Amino acid sequence: MSDGKIGLILRSQTNKNHVQKLHHPMNQEALMNKLRRSGLRPTPQRLAIGKLLFDRGNRHVTAESLQEEAKTNDCKVSLATIYNTLHQFTEAGLLRQIIVDPTRAYFDTNTTSHHHFFHEDTLVLEDIPGERVTVQIDGRNPFSAKAPAGKKITEVGVIIRISSE
Ligand SMILES: [Zn+2]
Repeated sequence: MSDGKIGLILRSQTNKNHVQKLHHPMNQEALMNKLRRSGLRPTPQRLAIGKLLFDRGNRHVTAESLQEEAKTNDCKVSLATIYNTLHQFTEAGLLRQIIVDPTRAYFDTNTTSHHHFFHEDTLVLEDIPGERVTVQIDGRNPFSAKAPAGKKITEVGVIIRISSE
């Protein structure tokens, strides 16, 4: 836990407001409470993975990218454990799963409804700022869709795939 605290002190000397907006390091107890409130027993593995996930502001990870991160943080967990934990967190409402395509599932720590750019060149998923999205391709009319008769739209999640020109 001391790592996070030292890091925060160093960063807050350079730009306190900036750090507070983007960064909410979570101590062990806050993380335990977050898990308990969501009905998850705070096991050592869930705490370790939760710390990686929730200590750095809003982010998008894959099971593979999180395993890489765990390795660099000297945290040895199998890909299967990471995968299971990510799904448990998602079921508990702590994460939102964003399926970009059948081979690529991201987990978003921002569980509110929002839209994404997917960078095909770098495989990075990025939030589109703002709540409203209007998609206009080649100057044509904006794309819009109405729910079929007898159906209502419960949520709209747009993924706009982009690449270098
Ligand atoms: Zn997002």
